[in-house]
Amino acid sequence: MTIRETLTEASARLSAAGIDTPSLDASLLLAETLGANRTGLILACNEPLSGEGYRRFGQLLDRRLSGEPVAYILGRKEFRGLDFKVSPAVLIPRPDTETLVEAALKTVSDTVLDLCTGSGAVAIALKHERPALAVSASDISPEALEVARQNTVNAEPVTFIESDLFAAFPTLPQGAAPRRFGMIVSNPPYVPSAVIPTLSREVRSEPRLALDGGNDGLDLIRRIISEAREFLVPGGLLLLEADPGQMETIGSILAVQGYTGIQTFRDLSQRSRVIGGRGRE
Ligand code: GLN
Repeated sequence: MTIRETLTEASARLSAAGIDTPSLDASLLLAETLGANRTGLILACNEPLSGEGYRRFGQLLDRRLSGEPVAYILGRKEFRGLDFKVSPAVLIPRPDTETLVEAALKTVSDTVLDLCTGSGAVAIALKHERPALAVSASDISPEALEVARQNTVNAEPVTFIESDLFAAFPTLPQGAAPRRFGMIVSNPPYVPSAVIPTLSREVRSEPRLALDGGNDGLDLIRRIISEAREFLVPGGLLLLEADPGQMETIGSILAVQGYTGIQTFRDLSQRSRVIGGRGRE
């Protein structure tokens, strides 16, 4: 079979299995098998695929057919033009989350903390795009932090902290991280527990710890809003990603907790995806 025929057959199987982007996924997996990029694949489309290549491609295709996300099969995902290593220990960086990075880049600050950093995508993108920023990043999961640390190899340094939100911060050695931050950003778990079983197989293969925000999805967000006040410089900015349908409630929680200048930022689909407020002056 030629590469083109292999792709056509694989796309048909992926499509029949209800996968949203069958030809994209087929070409990403075949390019991976052949160590090529997608342009190389197009150029070689009339060439035959070896029996060995077909067998190795079949293994990747079976994983995709069973619902495993492409990013976990490839072990990487692009975010803001950078390639991030990902594993099932971390949420796969999403284009929606670029809104959080963009909102943070609009703000003047020397220091930032990325809470619930997961793969480190937000923290590392911020450090890359604003090298003078001192970036700290924390997560409750040591497995996630291991992935995040690997993502800083060859990149600018980020300080990683294992912590359940701010719990470990008061016990850190002096100078390990700033005592207060000019900005705190977070893409915490915010999916209501009851919604999790209704999500796609792909999303359900991501860590529940990174998705499940409790009853109304706001358990972590409430804690962050309350606890962050102690860790922001006067007038420092808290930026949170959440679901567009949660923005109004989060806005009221921020206001009740004394934050000011509350504003939302839209994602690529023009839906409110990030909300921010400033701590007490
Ligand atoms: N945006 C993600 C989703 O709906 C949720 C990510 C999160 O909980 N932080 O799949």
